[in-house]
Order: sequence, then structure tokens, then C-alpha cells
Amino acid sequence: MFSLHGGHSSEFCDHAQSSLQEMLQAAVRAGYHTFGVTEHAPRVEARFLYPNEVARGWDVPRIIHDFERYAQTLPALVEEFADRLIVLRGFEIEVVPVASYVQLMQGYRQRYRFEYIVGSVHYVDEISIDGSAEDFARAMEACGGLESLVARYYHTLAQMVDALRPEVVAHFDLIKLHGRRFGALNTPAVRRAAEEALEAVRQTGGILEVNTAGYRKGLGEPYPASWLVQMAHQMGIGFCFGDDSHRVEQVGFGIEMAREHLLRNGVTSVTVLARESGEILRKVVPLE
Ligand SMILES: [Zn+2]
Ligand SMILES: [Zn+2]
Repeated sequence: MFSLHGGHSSEFCDHAQSSLQEMLQAAVRAGYHTFGVTEHAPRVEARFLYPNEVARGWDVPRIIHDFERYAQTLPALVEEFADRLIVLRGFEIEVVPVASYVQLMQGYRQRYRFEYIVGSVHYVDEISIDGSAEDFARAMEACGGLESLVARYYHTLAQMVDALRPEVVAHFDLIKLHGRRFGALNTPAVRRAAEEALEAVRQTGGILEVNTAGYRKGLGEPYPASWLVQMAHQMGIGFCFGDDSHRVEQVGFGIEMAREHLLRNGVTSVTVLARESGEILRKVVPLE
């Protein structure tokens, strides 16, 4: 069992609730053999700070500094846990600011020698789509409705994947978190846009994450939905697991259900990242 997205921790993230040390201990207890730690990249303009960060008096220099401390803390923890757990050093990217995120994220990757990145889209045209309902309504209005927003979301995802070539592509249909309340999310136009994004994943060799946060957020399914798993599988794209954990109770949560989700949709193997002689390799392993 493994997870390639999670391990968010309270030292480095305003909305996480356990320390990184506690998260790694929880990963050992959960029975993981590999645990990718992927803290959020900082958002480098004050307008992107979360309300909770603002309430705590955090500013942009503070979150940039926290991310730097995160990057510098990881190597020692990799060593400390090496006899029990393979800890991979990654981070979860942001697509803001639109004009500079590509260079920013590439810069973080190189500067701190991260082993891999998790490609996520949490914003469409710089408006948050997984934060408050108000922001989501604003994003819909800016795009001219739900269907245009969802198509625009997948278009943003495709561009991000082309530009950053993330090893892991996270919560592929995150737009459903709020979007499902407003209408159908698999219309022909949406399917075309999603297929375009999956094509970018295929071409860049990305692994699609089955993210279990969907279960704990009451969606009754993980990200991505069955139709997307089937579409990606037909295109030859590989899958991995991500618990997207932000506290110890979430470490390992839902992985068994995610495994069943894949099997139900005809997927019988998963792709894991492995470290060999300091290099990160993809390994395909059977699901059963
Ligand atoms: Zn988070
Ligand atoms: Zn995310």
C-alpha cells in the first residue's frame, strides 16, 4: 500500500493538524511501504492567501519561509524513517499567479531538488474552485456558467500538465467538489475537455491519482469518477493512490475503497514511484 499525495503538516500548512513527524509515524502504522510527502507550494501574492492564513496574521514572506523550512526538513526525515518507510520528497503545485506559476514551480523543484511534483489545479483564472462556495460562484460567473467553467478547468489542467510535466496528476475532477450542486459534469463538451487533459497526461507520462479525499468530503466516490477512470484506462494512463492527508486520522483512509474503485472500472495494476540509486522510477505493480 502506498500514497503519493499527502503528508500535509501543521508546521508548514495552515489547514493541516498534525506534525510531519506524526504523519510519518501514522504512515508506518497504516502499513504503507511508500509515502510521498507533498506540501503545498506557497502562493506568492497576498490576494491568494487563505482566509485562515489571514486570520492568523500570516503573510506571503511567512508562507514562502515555511515552504523553505519544509524543503530543508525533509532529507533528515527520509533518513530517520528509511528502515520502516520509503518517504518521497515532493510538493503540490499551484497554478497561480497565471503569468508566473510555471517558472515559480520549476524554480522550487530545482532549488530544493524535489524528487517529484504533484500537479493540481485549485484555481481557474486565479479564482479558487475548491475553497468557499462564494468563490466557486464567482468562478462560474466569470466563465459564463457551470459547463464553461468545467471545460475551462480541464483546459487549465491540460496546460499545466504540458508545462510542468508532473509525475502525479492530483484529484483530476476536483471541480466536482462544488460543481456537482449546479448540474451535470459529464456533458459532451466537458468530456471533450477532460479527454484533452487526459491526453496531456498520457503524452507526458503522468500518473493519475485516485484521491480518497472525495470520500471524506461526502462525495461518495474518490477523484476521479468512474467515467474518467475508464477513459484514462482506455488511453493507457496509469493510476496511483493519494490519501491527501492533512492529519494523522486521514493517513491511509479510503485506500481500500480506492482500490475497489479501480478494480470495478477494469484497472488491475497501479503505478508507484520508487527510488533506486537516488533516481525516481515508475513501477507498475498488480492490484491484487
Ligand atoms: Zn491542503
Ligand atoms: Zn490539492
